[in-house]
Amino acid sequence: MDEFDLIETYFTWENSSSRADSEDTIAVSVGDDAAVLNIPPNTQLVTSTDTLVSGVHFPENTSAEAIGHKALAVNLSDLAAMGAKPAWFTLALTLPEIDYDWLREFSRGLKKLAQQFQIALVGGDTTRGPLTISIQVMGIVDNNQALLRSGAIAGDKVYVTGTLGDAAAGLDSVIKNLNLSEDDKDYCEQRLNYPQPRLLESDTIRDYATSCIDISDGLLQDITHILKASNKGAELDLSSIPLSQALSKIDKNQSLGYALSGGDDYELLFTIPSEAESVFLEKMQQPGYQITCIGVINELYGSLVDTEGNNLMSKGYTHFSGKAFR
Ligand code: ADP
Ligand code: MG
Repeated sequence: MDEFDLIETYFTWENSSSRADSEDTIAVSVGDDAAVLNIPPNTQLVTSTDTLVSGVHFPENTSAEAIGHKALAVNLSDLAAMGAKPAWFTLALTLPEIDYDWLREFSRGLKKLAQQFQIALVGGDTTRGPLTISIQVMGIVDNNQALLRSGAIAGDKVYVTGTLGDAAAGLDSVIKNLNLSEDDKDYCEQRLNYPQPRLLESDTIRDYATSCIDISDGLLQDITHILKASNKGAELDLSSIPLSQALSKIDKNQSLGYALSGGDDYELLFTIPSEAESVFLEKMQQPGYQITCIGVINELYGSLVDTEGNNLMSKGYTHFSGKAFR
């Protein structure tokens, strides 16, 4: 099988190319020297790249299907954080060898998520070397509607989607630093290997939030990006941080450590003006959506404290991060 057969077999599928828009946005897809894409009028292109390196961003024994899923999911999460709708992506794949079983599984994970969120694979590159997956996603947003990190205002409520810390606990259980029941281990490993980009939630969040980021490096680290970009501080109520059932069973300090500093959650962290809060909460009453208010923005630039005034950046939660594989 040469490179072209390989692409034909594993990376060509019915592209859900036309999105919600009725016009076809893909003029030229895989097969030419480059893709040619039509950007709908009055919209802006939002683009981002993330690379996963084996042994760095995921343990070497991770299944190919999970790698396919996760490589696209972490990129889609960036589009969600910007409030963009996914449109197209390219895939640069570096493989140590051609392993058809591996490729089939990888392709399955990738394709399933791509079809779920109607993002079309429009090109890529295939090379030999240490296993590395690099994806560039492209999305669209109505002019000047992209959600930035910089818009938080004092008084805004701080919200997160989903539950925090599961992926870091999952990683610790994979590398055997944490003992969980069989069910909880499966749950946390699923959260580590199959993160769900919060694109549906993002479609509503975009219309109400003043700032947004996806949590990839831990809550404390990532909220700091919002505070810096917005020139603000925040007070967090640690008792309101959403934990899964699995995490609420382990030592309280440890679960809080995962939730505050563990990586790979890919939940959204965003700020909502208090006057918009009740309408926003109503709009978010959708099956499967989970959002939790965990604090409030203030004018104290660079300050990040709990409700008792303790400085959260110096509380020593950082050693709980799943950084071994980042
Ligand atoms: P070139 O040498 O002109 O860069 P390539 O041989 O790298 O062309 O790729 C041929 C075509 O196949 C291009 O359209 C490219 O976008 C596509 N392609 C290559 N690898 C992949 C891949 N892993 N997934 C999707 N498309 C790919
Ligand atoms: Mg090429």
